[in-house]
Amino acid sequence: MKVAFFSAKSYDRDFMNSANESFNHELSYHDTALSARTAILAQDCPAVCLFVNDTADAPALEQLHEQGVELIALRSAGFNNVDLDRAQELGLTVVRVPAYSPHAVAEHALAMILTLNRKTHLAYQRIQSGNFSLERLMGFELHGKTVGVIGSGKIGQLFARKMRGLGCSVRVYDPHPDESFGQEEGITYVDQPTLFAESAIISLHCPLTKETHHIIDAKAVEQMQDNVMLINTSRGALVDTQAVIQGLKSQKVGYFGLDVYEQEENLFFEDLSGAIIQDDQITRLMTFPNVLITSHQAFFTEQAMRQIADTTLQNITDFERGNPLENRIERS
Ligand code: NAD
Repeated sequence: MKVAFFSAKSYDRDFMNSANESFNHELSYHDTALSARTAILAQDCPAVCLFVNDTADAPALEQLHEQGVELIALRSAGFNNVDLDRAQELGLTVVRVPAYSPHAVAEHALAMILTLNRKTHLAYQRIQSGNFSLERLMGFELHGKTVGVIGSGKIGQLFARKMRGLGCSVRVYDPHPDESFGQEEGITYVDQPTLFAESAIISLHCPLTKETHHIIDAKAVEQMQDNVMLINTSRGALVDTQAVIQGLKSQKVGYFGLDVYEQEENLFFEDLSGAIIQDDQITRLMTFPNVLITSHQAFFTEQAMRQIADTTLQNITDFERGNPLENRIERS
């Protein structure tokens, strides 16, 4: 099947081309992100393959549909960037990769915690310039701390287990608790205010929905412990960035690790060194020594890239052959 890839980077091409030796689809790659304006690049292709910052809103979907596109194959788990209602109205099938090495994201969240806590990002910079002082590098021990996990799906559960392994006590909030997981791990499900009040570290592992948009806002920050550490490896819009910036300025928030950012589509995955960055929130965040930003790289491991490529191409083959589509997304 002819497939047009949007937002394709060198690593996408490498892993897709290698996996495609077993599938033999006709793949074409475009660096550009999908929008109504760029949809034309998929001309003659019945399938498009999209990533997290491609905008599959109504105008883009209408343009794709007009050109004869039938399948939207997401090479991501999250699908908040697709207007599913409009896709369904247009008869477009949408498939995704529901899980790809959830360990990758859980481990990245842990890496952010350990970096912020022990300040290894600052130590690295200092040593590069010959500064071997320990002033302002003191950390704290994770052992015995309480960690709050919002969302106990695949990634949240793995993350919670890793934190338990480090001797932390874990609180979880999820509107759909997995009681067997809770019992197995001796983990308590609590309501959101309790999680905010009891946790020294809070990590987000829920999807972006209407209910979770700005789940971390000024009111939530107010309910948290002083010097709380916030980690977001899920979706940028779970956090009201301005509220967290205020929290960092007042020192209510002691640490902020973010792998995702609400306006990331204008920044992440691109080399903007030397450019004038117009986003004043990210530039403010970049000035805090206790903020660690990575550009949506939590998923980025060899294992995950292989799984993403295999599942994406299998989804496309299943669609082409009229097989049942186990990874199809439909509006709820
Ligand atoms: P999952 O579907 O297995 O689990 C999500 C969990 O969130 C479910 O248990 C669900 O009940 C819960 N949830 C739903 N609404 C909630 C709410 N209002 N409050 C608290 N919990 C709620 O998903 P997953 O595979 O664990 O992935 C979690 C998220 O991680 C994805 O939605 C995606 O946004 C993000 N992600 C990020 C990267 C990255 O590279 N940074 C990669 C993959 C996934």
